Amino acid sequence: MKKNIWTSDFFRQIWKNEFFCVCLSQKNYNIFNFSILLVRNTEFIKSSPSLKECPKSDIPEYAFVGRSNVGKSSLINMLCMNGSLAKTSATPGKTRLINHFLINGSWYLVDLPGYGYAKVSKKMRESFDKMLFNYLNKRENLYCVFVLIDSRIPPQANDLEFISRLGALQVPFAVAFTKIDKTTQKQFNDNIKLFKNEMLKTWEELPQFFYTSSVTKQGREEILGFIEKIC
Ligand code: GDP
Repeated sequence: MKKNIWTSDFFRQIWKNEFFCVCLSQKNYNIFNFSILLVRNTEFIKSSPSLKECPKSDIPEYAFVGRSNVGKSSLINMLCMNGSLAKTSATPGKTRLINHFLINGSWYLVDLPGYGYAKVSKKMRESFDKMLFNYLNKRENLYCVFVLIDSRIPPQANDLEFISRLGALQVPFAVAFTKIDKTTQKQFNDNIKLFKNEMLKTWEELPQFFYTSSVTKQGREEILGFIEKIC
């Protein structure tokens, strides 16, 4: 059976108004003018090795996840206009903790460990995977997971598999393509089209897509506007 998170009761509950739902169900998302959330204040709260050590789940939470080196730290820093908030990792795959940042004193931005890192043992990979999915499955205040996808490359099996697993668990998510400043227009169009086609093989509707560059800051207003709407 096809899964479609956009029609799940859980996700509908967190939309502030029906109009936003209508916009999402149409394919032309650009018609919607997002209001921009200002990031006035950012505070690192803690790094947790597992769900049970995460901060109290009493405010909305937005998590960012993707394969190592996808540009996650850079995107988080760009969103928060803080060059050192999330460590831009010199050694891919090193950060294996759930990192909570408090934004404007009212919501958490969560930097999740990267997945699909090949250079660790199978046992370690399985243990990271278990920790990550335990968080994704059980974190009550998780409003949306931004799955980061490198726009320079064609769809990767582990990204698609990750998204399928989110769907199976009914975790609300959006897709953010990264490093779009590094692609040619053709490469960008081809990769996005391929990605959408791959998703449409198993999904009835596509989720919200964002196109980002931490260099040009493209996508910042859209992502923050999206968070503002559902916060
Ligand atoms: P992470 O491992 O997913 O946290 O990835 P990082 O944020 O550390 O980025 C990995 C590499 O990609 C670094 O060399 C970044 O400078 C580079 N990078 C990340 N985002 C962008 C982007 O939007 N544009 C360009 N040109 N480079 C980027």
